[in-house]
Amino acid sequence: MDSFDFEAAMERMRNDPRFDVLRARLEAEPVLPPLSTIPAPEFPHPLRLGGVVRYRCPLDCGWHHDARPDDEPMGPLLLPAGFTTEDLSAAISSQAVVRSNNFRLRVEQAIAEHFDASHPDR
Ligand SMILES: [Zn+2]
Repeated sequence: MDSFDFEAAMERMRNDPRFDVLRARLEAEPVLPPLSTIPAPEFPHPLRLGGVVRYRCPLDCGWHHDARPDDEPMGPLLLPAGFTTEDLSAAISSQAVVRSNNFRLRVEQAIAEHFDASHPDR
């Protein structure tokens, strides 16, 4: 039985032009939350540098929630065998939507927990 050469497989992947598409898309599209009940975020540092997104309490009590969109797990990229660059692009786009939704839910939950703890009457 042949053993699997992981390094050789990684090298083949790195040399695959489809990998450049993946890398370019990942670098081009930071995950940003869609509008929701979340207050408008502030960006103390550029997102491209892995910056933090800050959400202040809408009641201005001084509390804030810092989040890093880049910390959202990537999850699996589901691709058919013999995938094309279009398949890859579609898979990355759908993964970005999932990450964005998860990020928004996490921020909304943090804000809801803050309101429960500090503004239970609101
Ligand atoms: Zn507050």
